[in-house]
Amino acid sequence: MKTLVLAAHDGKNLDDATARLVTAARQLGAPIDVLVIGSGIAAVAGQAAALDGVSRVRAVDADACATVLAEDLAAQLVAIGAEYRVVVARHDMLARAALPRAAVLADAGFLADVTAIPAADRFIRPMYAGGVVAEVAPVQDRLFITVRPSAFAPAGTTDAAVTVEPLAATVAPKRAKLVGREVAGGDRPDLTRARIVAAGGRGVGSAEHMKLVEAVADRVNGAVGASRAAVDAGFAPNAIQVGQTGKTVAPDVYLAFGISGAIQHVAGIKDARVIVAVNKDPDAPIFQIADIGLVGDIFEVLPRLASELPSI
Ligand code: FAD
Repeated sequence: MKTLVLAAHDGKNLDDATARLVTAARQLGAPIDVLVIGSGIAAVAGQAAALDGVSRVRAVDADACATVLAEDLAAQLVAIGAEYRVVVARHDMLARAALPRAAVLADAGFLADVTAIPAADRFIRPMYAGGVVAEVAPVQDRLFITVRPSAFAPAGTTDAAVTVEPLAATVAPKRAKLVGREVAGGDRPDLTRARIVAAGGRGVGSAEHMKLVEAVADRVNGAVGASRAAVDAGFAPNAIQVGQTGKTVAPDVYLAFGISGAIQHVAGIKDARVIVAVNKDPDAPIFQIADIGLVGDIFEVLPRLASELPSI
């Protein structure tokens, strides 16, 4: 049986995560189909067809799919899922809502946040906020899995693009509708893909002071993140929460300001190449995982970084 990769895209371009999902899917040793869902997505499907290792692209191109809700995605995956042993999707909000539904409807298994696939029937994933790395051998024949893209290198492209086959849309009975969409972060790079992330914690003290963190991020063309305590306190929007129940980031440099380093926060930054922490408490747990640590007051450090860091 084959493997199905759900393409991640913004309607115009294929997200780099899709090439990484293909690498993950290759570990399963079966032919790989890519499913692209959206409206006006011919170009995206073409990009998917050029990924090395893909056997076929299936494109659901319909007005009704301009916005895909979890119910619709689950219904679509169940409608075509019987051909596939494993359905692979990016570990994002939509897939985290849709794939467990699909797994229940299809009487299949579900695994979240897979970071390695050592064999076709073995999956590595973090548990307990990254405190444990589990090797899971699922008992179900069919599986729906979400994969952490940053854990896999992107597949290359080939000149010999495969066929794109149209597929009819399966739309679920409407129990929910999208009432609006807010793009967080403005012109800043996407948090999950940014090369530099500057993040603020409870130590930042207020939404007003969060602007100091934003100024550092803007200086280095980075994204802004926040701890859950900062989000809960209203200093930052939920969309930029980093950690176990927020976003997983994998930047070259993660700058943590006034963040203590709770295990649930660290779970979201483990893949960062270099972690820099500024905290006034020398015993803060963040210093145990930081590559560079500065014991100091963020209100002295932030303005200096915003004016003295090389502008990128
Ligand atoms: P605190 O722990 O209060 O730390 C604030 C830090 O700021 C302190 O270390 C202090 O020394 C420092 N500080 C204060 N003032 C200054 C100053 N002027 N200069 C320098 N340093 C200063 N948390 C997440 O972040 N992400 C998650 O996804 C997440 N998911 C969770 C899921 C569950 C199920 C649970 C139970 C918890 C979760 N948490 C998550 C919460 C987590 O346990 C911590 O409570 C949270 O990360 C703490 O945020 P913080 O480090 O900003 O705040």
